[in-house]
Amino acid sequence: MRLSISARVSIACTSVILMALTVLATGLSVGNKIHDADLRITLLSEALHLENRLDQMQRQLRQDIGRVTRDAERGAVVSAVRWGELNDGIAAFRQRSSSTAQFLASRPEAGWVPVRETQRAAADFATAADRLIQIGRTRPSGIKSAMPRFLSALTALENSRSRARQDLTFAISKAAESNRRESRRDIISVLLGGLVIVAIIFSMTIWLRRRLVSPITILAARLREFRVGDSDGDIPGVERADELGDLARGLYEYRNAVESRRTAERRAEFLANHDMLTGLANRLLFENRLAHELSRSGRTGDVVAVFAIDLDAFKAINDRLGHAGGDRVLKRTARLLSSSVRGDDLVARIGGDEFAIIQVAHAQPAAAEALISRIFKTASAPSDEGVAIRMSVGVALSEPGQTGDELHELADLALYRAKADGRNTARIFNKHLKDEESQRVRLGRDLEDAVSANELHLAFQPIADTASLEIVAYEALLRWRHPILGDIPPDVFVPIAESTGLIGTIGSWVIDQALRAASAWDPKLSLAINLSPIQFRSAGLADEICDAARRWGVTFDRLELEVTEGATLLGFQRDNVLATLKTLQEYGARVVMDDFGTGHSSLSNLKEFTFDKIKIDRSFVATMHSHASSSSIVKATIGLGQSLGLTIVAEGVEAEKQLADLRRWGCDQVQGFLIGKPADGGVIRQARMPAHGIDR
Ligand code: C2E
Ligand code: MG
Ligand code: MG
Repeated sequence: MRLSISARVSIACTSVILMALTVLATGLSVGNKIHDADLRITLLSEALHLENRLDQMQRQLRQDIGRVTRDAERGAVVSAVRWGELNDGIAAFRQRSSSTAQFLASRPEAGWVPVRETQRAAADFATAADRLIQIGRTRPSGIKSAMPRFLSALTALENSRSRARQDLTFAISKAAESNRRESRRDIISVLLGGLVIVAIIFSMTIWLRRRLVSPITILAARLREFRVGDSDGDIPGVERADELGDLARGLYEYRNAVESRRTAERRAEFLANHDMLTGLANRLLFENRLAHELSRSGRTGDVVAVFAIDLDAFKAINDRLGHAGGDRVLKRTARLLSSSVRGDDLVARIGGDEFAIIQVAHAQPAAAEALISRIFKTASAPSDEGVAIRMSVGVALSEPGQTGDELHELADLALYRAKADGRNTARIFNKHLKDEESQRVRLGRDLEDAVSANELHLAFQPIADTASLEIVAYEALLRWRHPILGDIPPDVFVPIAESTGLIGTIGSWVIDQALRAASAWDPKLSLAINLSPIQFRSAGLADEICDAARRWGVTFDRLELEVTEGATLLGFQRDNVLATLKTLQEYGARVVMDDFGTGHSSLSNLKEFTFDKIKIDRSFVATMHSHASSSSIVKATIGLGQSLGLTIVAEGVEAEKQLADLRRWGCDQVQGFLIGKPADGGVIRQARMPAHGIDR
């Protein structure tokens, strides 16, 4: 049977109280016994003292009687006074004997034989003494005959008194001895009782400490830990059947209830501050943390770097892989970014395919540059998770007094720059970038009026047959002469036109004006037109080209349409792009893959769509003789074209040696300053009719 703590404590306390009472009672009885024994010894001693006094009196009487009777026997005159003194002595002796007998009468010792005998012998002695004195006073001659009787009474008295005194002495020593013995025994039992009480109290203390105090201390510690949020520790005693078990179980249930409430709160807080899909921080947490880090950096002198990150061609990935596939890519991106940062950096998903990182460091921009290279290194590492992740990164570094919004805006600007610079790259914001951005904004505004103000015109660059160097086509290249800034290269303003959407209008103008120019050429010459991926957003692009060609009387077999591979085949509305190109091919036009080798999946694009022609990017041609890898790529591309039955064009041919090698390797066509620079014919109305061997 398991007893409760209160029952155990009650039993223990009751035992202690009973023991204490027993010890107290024993102590009291010991005291009483000692007192009684002392009293008895005192009485016996007093009796002995009285007997001694009587003995002395009796000896005195014997001497006095002996002296007086001897005088009387000798015939001397004994005065009446002396006889009277003897009579008084005997009376006093009798008196004292009787008071001693009275003293002893109430004591147990009264019944003793020697005591009783002594009382009787004392009375006999007194009587014998009285008679002897009477005879000696009246007839001294009778003394002799009366003397034996007196002496025998005296002897009997002396003998019995001697025995009585011996008995009293013996009784006193016996009482003292037994008193000592009993006292010793009683003291030992009191001591033993005390020891038992101490032992009970001691074991109770140990039990209380082990079974009550220690568990309570641990429970209190658990409560304290729990208060500060740590709830991993064991709760001791939940299996106990007593009150402490009740307490432990209560605490256990309380902890579970609070823990589940805390979990719910943490979950709610997590949901409020995190992105559900990736588990990264959301915009709210990002903004709060950024504000916090900026105010802290003001005190510590650290620099806060904000990374604005955008996935390249995410729309295309989503179109291609569906939403589930897009979600997988976002999760992978989140993992990739999280594994690239340090523990105290914050990675957030701001929305859609936009991510951001807050990095606080003292050594900036070194830390930001290191993180950029870690991100791109991780992204380019081989992965068996499918589509490669490509992203553009813009970074801005904080300056004193900047707000989070301002810093994020600058990072966005750098991101915009990274995208404009060909994507899958990073740019760190600097003042120059800002100036460039203002320039871009200005150019974007000015470009709107450029078409109507006749500031745009076309230049035509010849493309020749490698073997015969006969011009077979001209590529239309857009030019913009800004009234104040002068000639602006298409590499600068075409991306602006793309980002503002103006490329639609400009592209239509190019198609119309290029075909118009080509209508005046030798019909054997083809016309190459560059198409921006943005132009494919308009569903009627193929029809528009078809209409313009018909309007200007240029047959479709003279038309070549150049598209940059990455942007077109991985970019926006990939299926629309491919359908439009297919339609144009069906009309009889040729589709050319421009800048081959600079996109990120050049070869897989060849599998997706049947191009008619491939243009090797001029960067490979330019480094053909300085980099072995470039010449290998050029040769391989030529070989690829031959095996697939595609026409291969090499761009940017500037040197005779390049031409000679390309000819030797079997490249079909060449384009470049060696063949002819783009001929600037001023505004299109005055565009010079191209002639063979322009600028050669
Ligand atoms: P692209 O289509 O690859 O055009 C060829 C570029 O290479 C032209 O630059 C041309 O001037 C340059 N080039 C040709 N031969 C040589 C050479 O021997 N050496 C060097 N260093 N460069 C050479 P451009 O005219 O500045 O055009 C740049 C890019 O702008 C074009 O590259 C094209 O992507 C784009 N672009 C030009 N016109 C248009 C247009 O009408 N529409 C669209 N969407 N893009 C255009
Ligand atoms: Mg081109
Ligand atoms: Mg090109």
